[in-house]
Amino acid sequence: MDGFIHSTESFGAADGPGIRFVVFMQGCKMRCKFCHNPDTWDISSGIRITPDQLLNRAVRYRDFWGDDGGITFSGGEPMLQSEFICQFLELANNLDIHTAIDTAAQPFDPYNSYITRMLDLCSLVLLDIKHIDSNKHIQLCGYDNKNILECAEYLSYKNIPVYIRHVVIPGFESDSELTRLAEFIKCLKNVNKIELLPYHTMGKHKWESLGLKYQLEDIPPASQSDIKHAEMIFRKLDLL
Ligand code: SF4
Repeated sequence: MDGFIHSTESFGAADGPGIRFVVFMQGCKMRCKFCHNPDTWDISSGIRITPDQLLNRAVRYRDFWGDDGGITFSGGEPMLQSEFICQFLELANNLDIHTAIDTAAQPFDPYNSYITRMLDLCSLVLLDIKHIDSNKHIQLCGYDNKNILECAEYLSYKNIPVYIRHVVIPGFESDSELTRLAEFIKCLKNVNKIELLPYHTMGKHKWESLGLKYQLEDIPPASQSDIKHAEMIFRKLDLL
């Protein structure tokens, strides 16, 4: 089947281990107020491509991947095109390529066989947990976090390697909420890495060019000390 991609990046260094070919998938149902890719939201647009065409494009860069690198699906939300990605991963696995899925897991449904198969087939999941509190999650992203946390537990149960990613937004999260997040992560058995990422405003111009009002106008980018403070809370639970 065909997939719809927004764009690709040949030498990604921030989405999984090593140097990676990053595929930004089209489509996302969430509306995170800090989204830096709002131009990927519309699932009915994008570049149409087959799994073979995409793989052929990616493997041109294989010499640069070394032992750690590979291919990452990001977005947008890759889970919305899991049938296409399953077909792609079957081809990539035949070539022993390391693959990662960067997801916020909003459409996760344990009874959706394409989604679970996609998670089973990839080498690594980069799971974004936007907020541990369901009400704050709704406020921030437009959806609650129930199935996102369920996805984290599913990945742990299946022992699929995971990096947990969390964006630190100044003033949006209390210490007790960060502690709850750390306690939740502590219960997972498959977490290889935790990335506490600073909130930034680099996507703001995209909102403006789409005619959208940027939602976190009054919140400054996270400082070094905001990140250090969050790290200190995670360190108390031996997570970093
Ligand atoms: S899940 Fe990712 S792509 Fe979707 S709105 Fe949130 S930040 Fe943007």
